[in-house]
Amino acid sequence: MLRLVLLGRPGAGKGTQGIFLSERFNIPRLVMSSLLKEEANAGSNLGETIRSYMEEGKLVPDEIVYQVLRKRIMEVVDKGFILDGFPRNLKQAEWLDKFLRSNKIELSAVIYFDVDELTVLRRIMGRLVCESCGRTYNIFYDPPPDIRRCECGGNLYQRKDDCYDKILRRLNVFNEETMPLVDYYKRKGLLLAIDANKGIDAVKEEAYSIVSSLLS
Ligand SMILES: [Zn+2]
Repeated sequence: MLRLVLLGRPGAGKGTQGIFLSERFNIPRLVMSSLLKEEANAGSNLGETIRSYMEEGKLVPDEIVYQVLRKRIMEVVDKGFILDGFPRNLKQAEWLDKFLRSNKIELSAVIYFDVDELTVLRRIMGRLVCESCGRTYNIFYDPPPDIRRCECGGNLYQRKDDCYDKILRRLNVFNEETMPLVDYYKRKGLLLAIDANKGIDAVKEEAYSIVSSLLS
């Protein structure tokens, strides 16, 4: 049974790879943003509190995040888990350690999807979305036949969050807050890095082989 944490810059593809790993090895995925949304929709008191933060566009405080995680980790503990989107900083990582230790749970590994900032820019800034069918293109890797139109004939647009300024802001937050976790888990002997600049299939193969070897 595996308990994994996934780390990676925005645009590293860890969400996609997390889905692949979860399906291939039958391990539940715990995606922090989804867990919060699910709790917010569950109608619980905790959910109401989460909803009020979300509606104001505020970050949900750590104490509330921890409550949700405690519950959800314990629900799947016998099947293992793939944790995505948590921890995001050292304080959260230390909380996770303490929580797992007090429940005699050990992390198997932390998989770091290592991607260059320039690759992130190409992947995110290059993205065009069809306003009719929702199909996504990338002007560098998967260009549309016509730069103005999707195959279905719909108009293409760039999402507001996919612009240089916003990507840079997310990258800076990652570098300042989350990057220290790479060293943190390296020192604990848990870090396994994958070159995530490669294409999605090559990264998938490497992730499969890493996880297979953890299981054997
Ligand atoms: Zn379309």
